[in-house]
Amino acid sequence: MTAVSLHLPAARAACRGCGHSTVPVLDLGSMPIANELAPTALEARTQERFPLALHLCPSCGLLRVGHDVAPERLFRDYRYFSSFADTMVSHAAALVDRTCAALDLGPDDLVLEIASNDGYLLQHYARRGILVLGVDPAEEAARVAERERGVPTVCAFFDRALARAMARNGTRPRVIHAHNVVGHIPDPLDLLRGIAELLRDDGVALVEIPDAGLLLENAAFDTIYHEHYSYFTVTGLVGLCRRAGLTVLDVERTAVHGGSLLVTAARSGTSLPIRPRVAAELRGDVERETTSPRRWARLAATVEARRQAFRAKLAELPRPIWAYGASAKGCVLLGWAGLGPTEIPCVVDRSPHKQGRFVPGVGAEIVPPEAIDGGARPLPATLLLTVWNLRGEVLQQQRAFLERGGRFITAVPSVEVFP
Ligand SMILES: [Zn+2]
Repeated sequence: MTAVSLHLPAARAACRGCGHSTVPVLDLGSMPIANELAPTALEARTQERFPLALHLCPSCGLLRVGHDVAPERLFRDYRYFSSFADTMVSHAAALVDRTCAALDLGPDDLVLEIASNDGYLLQHYARRGILVLGVDPAEEAARVAERERGVPTVCAFFDRALARAMARNGTRPRVIHAHNVVGHIPDPLDLLRGIAELLRDDGVALVEIPDAGLLLENAAFDTIYHEHYSYFTVTGLVGLCRRAGLTVLDVERTAVHGGSLLVTAARSGTSLPIRPRVAAELRGDVERETTSPRRWARLAATVEARRQAFRAKLAELPRPIWAYGASAKGCVLLGWAGLGPTEIPCVVDRSPHKQGRFVPGVGAEIVPPEAIDGGARPLPATLLLTVWNLRGEVLQQQRAFLERGGRFITAVPSVEVFP
């Protein structure tokens, strides 16, 4: 492991959209990089830490982490960057059907996706004979996209400079997809400007991001980590698009990542109609105070009260207590609760890439789900469900655990013990 820190110099936390000074609204202390799993317990415990705090721009309603870690450090292991595809796969085909019908796409149209991964989405367009082009910095994913899915892929980070170079070469997409990527880069305005310059005049961009309004409503502090540079309210995203030269035509809500916003946008000056629900969503932000510093300031008190309630409840539950889900959310949750390997010796995860490694900052070992029901270790009596968005799925899979009297506990969206 390298000891070199890759801190970006811009630690003054200016808004990524309008440049206004931001105000800290939730301080999560110093945390290791949530996806940087360690090969040993000791290395996990001594992992380098970085400040982790959520900041709000009182001027435009965008949110960001106060301290940036360079993307080269965060995404040097692209296995994790690609994992978002899992949640997208199921609704990719339906989204493609709908987009083809709405825009009457034909063989002369080009569809481009930013962070196209292994071609999970573009393959559906390609099958219909529509031209596709992926852009993704992950070499392995790009290779799979080309060889197995027939999706030509430019292996690069998408930015305005790349967009300009593509436009000069005559690349003019009718549709540009950007799912769960705008929040993962330090300069989302540059990316959106790139989209605006590349898109055809009659084209649309489909941008999907987790909903910061839900983060606020559920006090879902565990969705805050360094890989998520920015957090978007409807107001913040609509304003950022406008600044980039894009007009938002529609805002929909999807189930991706426990609740996301899917925004349809076109180049400014478009003749395409704007759906009434855009205005309704903006009014909703005002009604729920989603961009109000006063409302966000209450989040810190809610999160602190929850930590105390969670620790008290956890102390009453039978041991051993394991966690379920070695996702970034799980790492943040365990760190926030101040839990170590004595309290949580194991974290269950289905991914073979994670098993045998250790949760950063915590030092708990990652084990396969089979270990819940048998193996050398004392079996868990309680499971701390960190992947609360997959509650139904995990309960279905853990029938044997439930039958022997096992119980679950969550900390987000509320402290709850079940069944
Ligand atoms: Zn701002």
